[in-house]
Amino acid sequence: MDLSLTREQQRIRELAREFARTTLRPNALRCDEDAEFPLTSLRQLADLGLMGVNIASELGGLDAGVIAYSLAITEISAGDPAVAVTMAVNNMVSEVIQEFGTTSQKEAFIPRMTSGEFSSGSFCLSEPGSGSDAAGMRTRAEKTTDGWVITGTKAWITSGEFAGVFLVWAKTADDEISLFLVDPTAEGISVGPPEEKMGQHASNTVALSFDGVRVAEDALLGTRGQGFPIAMMALDGGRIGIASQSLGIADGALALTKDRPEFPTAPLLPLRARLEAARTMTWRAAWLKEQGEPRFSREASMAKLTASEVCNEIVSTLLTHWPASSELAHEQDLALLLKFVRDARVTRIYEGTSEIQRVVIARDLIRRGAS
Ligand SMILES: Cc1cc2nc3c(=O)[nH]c(=O)nc-3n(C[C@H](O)[C@H](O)[C@H](O)COP(=O)(O)OP(=O)(O)OC[C@H]3O[C@@H](n4cnc5c(N)ncnc54)[C@H](O)[C@@H]3O)c2cc1C
Repeated sequence: MDLSLTREQQRIRELAREFARTTLRPNALRCDEDAEFPLTSLRQLADLGLMGVNIASELGGLDAGVIAYSLAITEISAGDPAVAVTMAVNNMVSEVIQEFGTTSQKEAFIPRMTSGEFSSGSFCLSEPGSGSDAAGMRTRAEKTTDGWVITGTKAWITSGEFAGVFLVWAKTADDEISLFLVDPTAEGISVGPPEEKMGQHASNTVALSFDGVRVAEDALLGTRGQGFPIAMMALDGGRIGIASQSLGIADGALALTKDRPEFPTAPLLPLRARLEAARTMTWRAAWLKEQGEPRFSREASMAKLTASEVCNEIVSTLLTHWPASSELAHEQDLALLLKFVRDARVTRIYEGTSEIQRVVIARDLIRRGAS
């Protein structure tokens, strides 16, 4: 693995960094306070190509690979983690359709997701009674003569109120899970109120109810019964996204100490070292995925676990040692740091909690050995 970035990867990183610096960060506190879904920023991200970084160019993506995607998410997260998670889910949903969709499914959905016509896609896996244990889902899809009827409830769905397409997992038999492309405007879907979260307020998180929602035969994504392995594969990639987001939150928070000689550096030194280790792990997992390596679960989970844990430690250490001052600029930076502290917590929860990452790593070590 070559750790130097290509010209294109550097260009995408710069593009995302500049957008985060000039557009996201100056508005991050206001958008957080107003819990304003970032429609304008998402359209601008689409114009920059960042809503489909690892998507083929004929489908409107940048076709720039997984490392470029990771770099972009990190930079956007340093500007506003709420925008970054929305972007990450859109990229993840597009990639699932790209990987498993038919030509007509790809053409029908992906260009609308990469161009900004759809503000985002949603990944509807979790349910009120099944988060970590996704296979325990209760949503069902019953076969009819001309399609399927979906009934059930999904919980904690990012962008659920605004998405242009839902990926919905449902049981098609007691021991069989399938995946469906669902139009959010279909009859029988109701959207719950936005969840009142501790952070990332500008991202939208809702429950979705499916009450006898009829979808056509061609709504099935992949083959019948392939839903669970698709979800696990998507989450492996998604964990690279959340590891990258964690790096960006830590970078954004650490940048607040720049030009502040009164800030004690010693408590941060070992954490900075662990942050760079997490960055290398994240790039390695991204590189493995980019090579088409079929098994990178362990590496993605290790990266997500390490990056999200050190990110939370960094923001909390910064808060502990934040020097007192009455300057306005200092107060504003403190408000941003407090936002990063609140935003960081969920990186240890979504796309699998830290405990679940340990389970994935342990299972993979048993299966593949330590090499
Ligand atoms: C802001 C936000 C956005 C989200 N967005 C989405 C989304 O877009 N799509 C989606 O499908 N889901 C989404 N989720 C759901 C998220 O993936 C789940 O919250 C997460 O997987 C944990 O599931 P749970 O909340 O049901 O907790 P539980 O699974 O009930 O876990 C509770 C606790 O038990 C621990 N635990 C559970 N099982 C084990 C085990 N086997 N061993 C050790 N410890 C265990 C967990 O680590 C956790 O600490 C989102 C969640 C949040 C908070």
